[in-house]
Amino acid sequence: MLIEDLKNTIRQVPDFPKKGIQFLDITTGVKNHEAFTDMIDFLYDQFKDKNIDYVAGIESRGFIFGAPLALKLGAGFIMMRKPNKLPAETISETYNLEYGSSTIHMHKDAIEKGANVVVIDDLLATGGTAVAACNLVHKAEANVVAAAFVIELTPLKGAEKIKNETGVDVVSMLKYDLD
Ligand code: AMP
Repeated sequence: MLIEDLKNTIRQVPDFPKKGIQFLDITTGVKNHEAFTDMIDFLYDQFKDKNIDYVAGIESRGFIFGAPLALKLGAGFIMMRKPNKLPAETISETYNLEYGSSTIHMHKDAIEKGANVVVIDDLLATGGTAVAACNLVHKAEANVVAAAFVIELTPLKGAEKIKNETGVDVVSMLKYDLD
């Protein structure tokens, strides 16, 4: 599909979850088989030659893209989850949101030292979530090959934040001039 047609599969919902936020709703994208296939194929092409051991998906929409990508790459899939979801011993990272803070966890034994990992989420906004995810992989002494997203809100400069704070490069498919 053309990029513009792909973007048209993603519904925009104003003022969700609160006033002033333009929510990019991927439910309408992934229910379209051709669009979903193009998204996974784009991501696959970025990483097929990079010896990826694991794709680490950020709960919850990162799981939707991360699991099929991992299968296609011949890699394993790792879950980065909200507190009190993972059953075994975890490591965690807390990061700031506009109001308050949030924490993500990963099983302590999820990733071997030196493994090559792609961190993935549906959308890059300010980059705070992805920085925390990259920090978790680095805590496990593994490499983050890239942080990958289907959607990037470019004016928020999340890619710059990720690069500055973690040294990790960003890959994104659909760039929006929204903040
Ligand atoms: P951030 O940490 O600011 O990069 O926020 C990224 C996380 O928040 C991702 O998990 C996104 O799914 C979600 N998110 C942030 N802004 C939006 C938006 N405008 N539309 C949909 N999801 C969003």
